[in-house]
Amino acid sequence: MPQSLFQRTLVLLKPDAIQRGLMGTIISRFESAGLKTVGMKLVWVDKEFSKKHYSAHVDKKFYIGLEEFITSGPVLAMAIEGIHAVDVVRKLVGPTEPKEATPGTIRGDFAHHSYDYADKKNIAIKNLIHASGNKEDAEKEIALWFDEKEMHTYKTVHEMHVF
Ligand code: AMP
Repeated sequence: MPQSLFQRTLVLLKPDAIQRGLMGTIISRFESAGLKTVGMKLVWVDKEFSKKHYSAHVDKKFYIGLEEFITSGPVLAMAIEGIHAVDVVRKLVGPTEPKEATPGTIRGDFAHHSYDYADKKNIAIKNLIHASGNKEDAEKEIALWFDEKEMHTYKTVHEMHVF
């Protein structure tokens, strides 16, 4: 297996996903695709941690609403592993704006919020999930959210066929 194609990515189920009871449904989408969960924990982040995670967005107009949203309840942090995991997870999740997400994607099936609506109300777009944008971000984000000892190496029964 070429190691660069075998990746880990960070997925956060945001407070809307947790509070709507969608954790199991969303996790099953990743499991069904043969991806492996190698880290998982429920975390209630504070403003300081939000600024670290969203450091690329702190100066943007929507950041205040985003911080309010991400600190409003527990978040399920997951480190997910697989072939091209970064891109595959983003494909399963769908585009940032749920209004534009096609049916079959997680955001397309379980949300319908829009940028227009979020911006008029000065709130973050409610899109259920954060998924790392690229391999470099994924490595940094996993290091921010997980200690080494919280990451697990194990074999799944699917590996003979999926990997
Ligand atoms: P990203 O790192 O691109 O996923 O963006 C971070 C999060 O900020 C998104 O997942 C949305 O929840 C939120 N967001 C991004 N752009 C906007 C916007 N224009 N208005 C409201 N929320 C936004």
